[in-house]
Amino acid sequence: MAAEAHSTATLRLSVGDLRIVHPITVPTGPVAAADVVPALQGLVNAVVAAAEAGKAISCRKGCGACCRQLVPISRTEAERLLETVAALPAERRAVLEARFAAAEAALAAADLKERKGRPDRELSTAYFGLGIPCPFLEDESCSIHPDRPLVCREYLVTSPADLCAGPAQEGVTPVPVPKISLAARGLQDESEDWFPLALLMDWAKTRPKGGARRTGPEWIQKFLKGMSRKG
Ligand code: SF4
Repeated sequence: MAAEAHSTATLRLSVGDLRIVHPITVPTGPVAAADVVPALQGLVNAVVAAAEAGKAISCRKGCGACCRQLVPISRTEAERLLETVAALPAERRAVLEARFAAAEAALAAADLKERKGRPDRELSTAYFGLGIPCPFLEDESCSIHPDRPLVCREYLVTSPADLCAGPAQEGVTPVPVPKISLAARGLQDESEDWFPLALLMDWAKTRPKGGARRTGPEWIQKFLKGMSRKG
């Protein structure tokens, strides 16, 4: 089978106070939005590197306090994460599926599976109060670090690491990173909302089939339009 063709372009972006020049490579032909997620991960990495330059970051491998927060996931990233999970050995998948089931049960018991009109902030605080570790967290480190969601990449702090475990996170100082993850959510249908990463497997049971296919460059154009609307 012939290798899939790819197209590369150099993005020049002004995001917040940052000027980013970053090469981006995407499939040339029609693909699902999930197939341009790796390109967006590279872009977020570049934005984060620029945002954290010169700052003393407290985040370290083995400190997973922030991995008990509500991680909002779009359909686009969810599809990509399901591919990541599907590629794991069966034994590892079984461990993850059990953790996802436990997280879902904890959210259901706390009546937090559905948003029920709650403001995002209220939902996030209640979620963090449950102390549910992300199913991907292993020994307080991310077990899918190269494939982790965009929003996880964007969260870094300069305050002492101990503060991140506090119930209301008082004194936590996140690095102001322009949120590429928000613009990336615009790749999915407008009728689709985000959901907590802990409900990934639950969502997978009833996920909408199909979905739009566009060329990689068309997806990036759509993403950039979303960026300009937010900026
Ligand atoms: S995906 Fe990884 S970085 Fe993100 S919350 Fe889960 S364990 Fe933490």
